[in-house]
Amino acid sequence: MIQLINLKKQALIDRSSILQKISNNIKRADFILGKNNILLENKISKFVKSKYCLTCSSGTDALIMSLLAIDTNPGDIIFTTNYSYISTAEVISLVGAIPIFIDIEKDSFNIDVNKLEEAIKNFYKKKTDYNYPKFLNKNRRAHKLKGIIAVSLFGMPANFNQLKKISKKYNLTLIEDAAQSFGADYFKRKSGNLGDISCLSFYPTKSLGCYGDGGAVITNKKKIYDKLKSIRVHGQSKKVGDFDRVGITGRLDTIQATILLTKFKRFKKELNNRRNIAKKYNLRLKHINKIKTPKFINNLNSAWTVYTILLKSKESRNELIKNLGKNNIKFGIYYKKPFHKQKVFKYLKLDKLKFPISDYVSKRCLSIPIDAYLTKKEQLKIINVIKKSKY
Ligand SMILES: *Cc1c(COP(=O)(O)O)cnc(C)c1O
Repeated sequence: MIQLINLKKQALIDRSSILQKISNNIKRADFILGKNNILLENKISKFVKSKYCLTCSSGTDALIMSLLAIDTNPGDIIFTTNYSYISTAEVISLVGAIPIFIDIEKDSFNIDVNKLEEAIKNFYKKKTDYNYPKFLNKNRRAHKLKGIIAVSLFGMPANFNQLKKISKKYNLTLIEDAAQSFGADYFKRKSGNLGDISCLSFYPTKSLGCYGDGGAVITNKKKIYDKLKSIRVHGQSKKVGDFDRVGITGRLDTIQATILLTKFKRFKKELNNRRNIAKKYNLRLKHINKIKTPKFINNLNSAWTVYTILLKSKESRNELIKNLGKNNIKFGIYYKKPFHKQKVFKYLKLDKLKFPISDYVSKRCLSIPIDAYLTKKEQLKIINVIKKSKY
């Protein structure tokens, strides 16, 4: 069986040194916010060249803490992509804000910045825009435009140069959901430091994964960092026993920080391996006219956590899926439905609104195995199955 991401193989590589370090961790008994949390935070800050980094309990919690740290109030509006993992959008509803979904670009699968700006302008012109739920039209002035959550999907950075301009122009906070893109480059800058606040996930299958749940929040703003630090521990004050705001249990276990520190040593090499695998897929698959391979974009380096191709139609995707299955090759469909079609967002009454690109992509996308330890032989097998399939 060829896994989408071979975690077992990855975990065996430094199993003994990780066990040794966990053992030391147990001896020290610094289980909560121990010295390895600080070491990891420093390491990540240095890597993305940020002033601050705060480890936390998951990528989702990183997003929730970010929304709390900028004082997102019920009824506030947060713009985001219509196409990502559910966390990106669910956190907005969770804090009582209203997500406004924006369609994506076909080439990068990321938020379409032109459509984003159009939606912002239309809000102020009080135009009935296709992005807005009807209930907003009644009293737009009661709602504040608060921020943007932009995702660098599958590891490829979104158009952050434009996003930054738009966020400045309309006074919105720009949050980077870098859960899939830690390690990616963007015009000599690093993903994880492209927004006012950036969120990482260390879920095991992400570019840098721990052995459980974990995440981090990155910022260059002292005020936001101080607030995040408080929110991470129930909103506590610097004075013991005083609580300033509502927070969560948002800490990363020290043992997970220990694991991440050890795995960080091979992070760059793993990124490089995945880049080479992606290059080879593109080279060998791009000539097949029924398949669209992901674009390599100038000045951008994806972290290649997911490698996604587009098929000609849903039917041809089904054909290929059958063949992959017969050959014991795992695959993923990221994502089966854009946000506006998910039941959880039915309350926004968006189902009649149009999001043509995310609709198109969700019906044709197929993610095939990519991980730093995929062998040449395995990749060749995958390429051959795809080449020989009739679809
Ligand atoms: C994985 C992921 C998250 C959530 O991360 P968790 O650590 O699983 O909570 C958020 N956004 C995106 C785009 C993701 O892929």
